[in-house]
Amino acid sequence: MKMTPEQLCGVTSDHLIELLFGQKTFLVHPAVQQDLLALKDAAAQAGFNLNIASGFRDFERQRSIWNNKMSGASAILDSDSQPLDNEKLSEQEKVMAILRWSALPGASRHHWGCDFDVFDRASLPHGVTLQLEPWEYLQGHQTQFYLWLKRNLTRFGFFFPYAEDLGGVAPEPWHISHQITAQDCLNQLTAEQLRFRLRLSPILGHQVVLDNLENIYTQFITNISGEL
Ligand SMILES: [Zn+2]
Repeated sequence: MKMTPEQLCGVTSDHLIELLFGQKTFLVHPAVQQDLLALKDAAAQAGFNLNIASGFRDFERQRSIWNNKMSGASAILDSDSQPLDNEKLSEQEKVMAILRWSALPGASRHHWGCDFDVFDRASLPHGVTLQLEPWEYLQGHQTQFYLWLKRNLTRFGFFFPYAEDLGGVAPEPWHISHQITAQDCLNQLTAEQLRFRLRLSPILGHQVVLDNLENIYTQFITNISGEL
């Protein structure tokens, strides 16, 4: 599907449809609706209550996540999910550290409507809030669900774009992506479109980002795990 730069960068969501999923309505890319519901059904048959913690996110939402980290309002985490000392980092170091866990506004896969952070609500202990940290999936309450997901998601056209550490985005065992749809979006998103968007809608540290945009594009945006 031909997408506009505004759609690819999360500025508009007019390509998405509303989908009732669990108790909530999400904006999703029309091409993923069927596979997403089939994945949820299969998970239910295996005893899991697959829910979406985060689906579509627009540019403004991603900009506020980004700006909060740049300004120190929220913590920048290292690769082990430990907070870094914001004051000791140069602007360039901050940008690179943030990109390990948070996408550049305009370049989040969550802008496309085909990527989702998922969890099993049935396994979440009472009173516990999901953190979206690797230990929950690798050796915590989400592990059985994660192992099931790993074995089954490709049957429904999904994959883990952040399955392993390739030196870009840190591993995210909760982030699934509808492969054909996302690849189509990624193929259309260019560094030039991002440059245009960030000039129009500046973010904190945007000069550092623009100066390093080609590197950021290859290290954090196109650098994803392939099909399993
Ligand atoms: Zn995600």
